[in-house]
Amino acid sequence: MNSISTQILIVGGGPVGLTMAALLAKRGVDSLVVEADAGYCSGSRATCISRRSLEILSWAGAEAAMMDKSLPWSDGRSFYRDQQVLHFQMPADSTQRFAPMVNIQQYYVEAFVHQAFSNSDTAVWWATRLTSLTQTSDGVSAEVVAADGKKTSIHAAWVVACDGGKSTVREQLGLKLAGMQYDGRYVIVDIKQKTKRPTERLAWFDPPSNPGSTILMHRQPDDVWRIDYQLQDDEDPDEAIKPENVLPRVQSHLSMIGEDEPWEVIWIAIYNAKCLTLPSYRKERVFFAGDAAHLVPIFGVRGLNSGLDDAGNLAWKLALVIQGKAEEKLLDSYSIERVHATHENLRYGAKSTEFMSPPHHGFRLMREAALRLSTVDKTVSSLINPRQSLPIEYTGSPLNLTGLSGMPAPEAILDKASTSAGAHLTHLTQYFGDAFTLLQLVDLDAGVIKQHPLVQVLALKKSEAPQVYERYASLGAFVLIRPDGYIAASWTEAREVNLDKALAKMGVIHE
Ligand SMILES: Cc1cc2nc3c(=O)[nH]c(=O)nc-3n(C[C@H](O)[C@H](O)[C@H](O)COP(=O)(O)OP(=O)(O)OC[C@H]3O[C@@H](n4cnc5c(N)ncnc54)[C@H](O)[C@@H]3O)c2cc1C
Repeated sequence: MNSISTQILIVGGGPVGLTMAALLAKRGVDSLVVEADAGYCSGSRATCISRRSLEILSWAGAEAAMMDKSLPWSDGRSFYRDQQVLHFQMPADSTQRFAPMVNIQQYYVEAFVHQAFSNSDTAVWWATRLTSLTQTSDGVSAEVVAADGKKTSIHAAWVVACDGGKSTVREQLGLKLAGMQYDGRYVIVDIKQKTKRPTERLAWFDPPSNPGSTILMHRQPDDVWRIDYQLQDDEDPDEAIKPENVLPRVQSHLSMIGEDEPWEVIWIAIYNAKCLTLPSYRKERVFFAGDAAHLVPIFGVRGLNSGLDDAGNLAWKLALVIQGKAEEKLLDSYSIERVHATHENLRYGAKSTEFMSPPHHGFRLMREAALRLSTVDKTVSSLINPRQSLPIEYTGSPLNLTGLSGMPAPEAILDKASTSAGAHLTHLTQYFGDAFTLLQLVDLDAGVIKQHPLVQVLALKKSEAPQVYERYASLGAFVLIRPDGYIAASWTEAREVNLDKALAKMGVIHE
């Protein structure tokens, strides 16, 4: 058996594992990814990628490819029978770099983020499955088997388990997801059909095309419609996914909404929502991210989006520790912050699921009431709003220092920004992803702070960046933002001790 060692072993080359590898590579840390499959995922999985995820993918180097291929959207419409009862618009002011949401097939996300690190020394071993894993005093010992049966023993200082809902790493460490799962089942159908409709989230409750059912439709690139419809409680799922049972339902709906171009089915699967998580995302030298750590209902689109947030949170922390620039205690905050985020995601995801797939008569009755009332009273429509994924505030994080620490840093346009690094970018979030960013609101006349090698200073006059003053001046003249775009601390006077204290709170080692 071959033996090798690596600093970081990433188990699972799905979207979260590949994003983790790309973010680490951007920070100069190479890793080894082992992926059981021979290539990117096939079939229909995540479709809706949030603005926050686009930011993370942009730090990974996949921005241009994502923007080129994906379909941006901000509006959604819901119908009760044949009547529109809700038209919602997600916040999409002109300040933002990205639309609130884009639609794109998951395999494109995987391909683009993989391409983003193709010039680095990070390797992906395709068709290679991790079969065993044990923790040792100085790291982790793993065994992987390639498709041709060749075995390799790997010693890694750190492991990131991104091996999905049936995680082998979780099983090897004797850990179990806890929570609940819903009985309601949805059929997921992808069809190829040209359309002239704009990209919007479309939902029908009890439509004439499929009485008693709920139908969701999303446009995807390459003329693909993603259609999800709810099965009745007494339907046999094996029968339900047979093409002879799926095609008439789809045809009936397409006819109802006037989509009459020829079409063909490209994917059929079945789904039921789960609300499951590990209690902790760190077990000594092993971290869990994405579906290996939590399974979140797809309604509200928090599955892949929350997994990308896991990678965005862990990558900078792990890189700083490996590079000897931060103490190991920084890594404990990963699990605390992301377990908290999962609990929030599960709370929202459960609400959306209970509306999309009512678990019992009481929920069905309430949904029926909300839908019926919405036909006559628009103020009730807010109850139908699907509450799509948003970044979660890290309340209670051990890294928080001052009032608004742990808040996602708001976007702002920069007209003529100049940093100590000399870069000139148009949006504040373009500075995130790598170093800490110290916003200095110079018009507040609070003095000048000494430079720190891990901190890029963004000194801005109000005339150059009025939106930064609108959104940040109430916090103080200095705002320290973490590499993952979260506020670390803010203060009003230029005293070295303030910056030192904020960095020390995060375990950053003073050079
Ligand atoms: C129908 C459907 C629709 C969805 N829609 C959305 C949506 O719109 N938005 C959203 O945010 N999320 C959505 N999701 C959820 C999203 O697809 C998942 O959250 C996402 O795939 C998780 O990514 P991951 O990398 O953590 O895990 P996975 O994508 O499951 O990847 C895990 C990888 O690990 C590999 N692996 C497993 N075991 C081993 C092993 N022992 N050794 C090596 N490799 C291994 C697997 O082959 C796989 O490639 C949807 C899911 C489904 C099923």
